[in-house]
Formats: sequence, C-alpha cells, structure tokens
Amino acid sequence: MTTIAFLGLGNMGGPMAANLVAAGHTVAGYDPVPAAAAAAAENGVLLAETAVQAVERAAVVITMLPSGALVRSAYAEILPVAQDGAVFIDSSTISVDDARDMNTLAAEFGFAQVDAPVSGGVKGAVAGTLAFMVGGIDDAFAAASPVLEPMAGKVIHCGGPGSGQAAKVCNNMVLAVQQIVVGEAFVLAEKLGLSAESLFDVITGATGNCWSVHTNCPVPGPVPTSPANNDFRPGFATALMHKDLGLAMDAVSSTGATAPLGTHAAEIYAAFAESNGSKDFSAIIETLR
Ligand code: NAD
Repeated sequence: MTTIAFLGLGNMGGPMAANLVAAGHTVAGYDPVPAAAAAAAENGVLLAETAVQAVERAAVVITMLPSGALVRSAYAEILPVAQDGAVFIDSSTISVDDARDMNTLAAEFGFAQVDAPVSGGVKGAVAGTLAFMVGGIDDAFAAASPVLEPMAGKVIHCGGPGSGQAAKVCNNMVLAVQQIVVGEAFVLAEKLGLSAESLFDVITGATGNCWSVHTNCPVPGPVPTSPANNDFRPGFATALMHKDLGLAMDAVSSTGATAPLGTHAAEIYAAFAESNGSKDFSAIIETLR
C-alpha cells in the first residue's frame, strides 16, 4: 500500500481521499478550510498542518484544487520537498496550458506527473466511479494508474501531458451545447402541443439521444432522478460548467480553433451563471421559456 499526499479535501477531494483510505492506502491530507479537513479526518485521512508536511513522506501526491493558479502555487511549494521518485497526479480541472506547464515544472524537479481531471461529479467521487482522463507519458501513466483505481469507474490514457485536460474541455463543450439544445427542443415541443413524455420516448430511441436527455432530462417527469425534479439542485452546477467553458474558450483562442456553437454556449452560461451559479446547468431551460 502507498503513502499518498492529498491536497484539496473539498466536495470532490474529500470523498476521493476517503476511497483511497478505504482501499488501504495511508493518506496524509491538507486543506486550509478546517471544515473540509475535519470531514476528511472522519474518513481516516491523517491531517497535515501544511502542504509541505503532507508531501514530505509521500510516494504519490494528488492535487484536487479549484484553479490552475492554486495548482501552480501548490507545486511551487511542494516540488522542492517531495521525496525522490514521487509521482504527481493533478485531478483539478485547469487549462491545457497550465497542465502542460505543471508537467514541465515537475519534470525539472525529476518527477513523473500526469494531469487526470475527472467527470462524474460528487456522486461519482463518493461512489468511487469517476471517469479519469489522463495525460502524461506512458511511464507516468503506469505509475499513476494503480492509485486512481479505487476512485475510478474508468481510467482513459488520452495521450501526452495536457491531453487529459484537452479531453475534458472538449467533452464539456459538447455537453453544454447538448444541454442547451435539449432545453430548446422541450420548450419547442411544449409550444407545439407535444408532451414531454412523448418527446423523451422519441429522442431516447432516436438519433438525438444523449446524456442531457436520457439522464439529465431538463423537464420533470420522464427521468425521476434528473435535477429538474428537484428544483434544479445539482447535479453539475452552472458555476462549474461556466468555469469549464472558460477553459474551453482559452483553448479555442490559444489554438485558433473555430467553435461557433461552443462559443455561443459559453456566452449563454456566462450570463446564466451570474445569478444561477448554484443551480444544475440543465436549468438553462428556464431562460428559454
Ligand atoms: P471545492 O471548492 O469543494 O474544493 C476545493 C478545496 O481545495 C477546498 O476545500 C479548498 O479549501 C481547497 N484548497 C484551496 N487551496 C488549497 C491549497 N493550497 N492546498 C490544499 N487545499 C486547498 O471544489 P471541488 O468541487 O472539490 O472541485 C475541485 C476540482 O475538481 C475543481 O478543479 C473542479 O473544477 C473539479 N471538478 C469538480 C466537479 C464537481 O462536480 N464538484 C466535477 C468535476 C471536476
């Protein structure tokens, strides 16, 4: 079993660290917010007083932080004190450019590093069924994989450094566009006198089927577990979709790619997030009625 440092014990990191403990690993955790740290301690995470203290004896260092700037400052602090041979896994959602920079920086200190953002939300973090999209060289991926297993439903090696984040922004750009157009379709159906149940039955058996309908249906009824049945409690919060679309737009502009629908979706979610950040992102349908 491995000694793992886990930095960032929030909504995602807390349950991820708990699953590593449950799998028999020794987890030294650090989070500056006392409530987050205390919740992790209840699940067997050994609390460190600083990031440096958590990392000093660890063979694997996992970061699950809100932004690229925070990963940058954490790496600046911990890379100089990590033990020889330590493997770095960053599961935060950050920009592709930041992810590549972090990989280069870790390599300068002689460490293997992967970007390994996730999809599956807090539910997946608790259940240990997250999908990990991993970017890194083969040796780094091989070293990181066994540690990801207790937290994962699926681990996909997407390519070299930054490819995990690249896959994540591309996937979420698709998801945003789909959720908006599915909302448009249900509102159009209402206006045409077509019931939500009928439209759901047709789309889910036809070519328009996608997660935004079959799991995250934005009207109450057809999928009893979708956030629409629960006042749009997330689920996947609009604020996080807004953040991810911002990263997608950074990637679009830095590469010169053309993404008219993704760009429009980013604008729509930016406006919606101003006063609805805590709602599930399927609540975008409310702006279409
Ligand atoms: P969160 O805000 O709940 O948790 C982040 C934690 O990091 C906080 O507890 C914060 O105190 C801690 N932190 C900040 N600076 C730190 C530092 N220097 N050292 C240690 N800890 C520090 O956020 P979250 O929902 O857990 O998301 C974490 C990451 O996962 C984000 O990048 C997010 O975009 C991504 N993500 C979230 C979801 C989701 O559904 N919540 C899904 C997929 C990906």
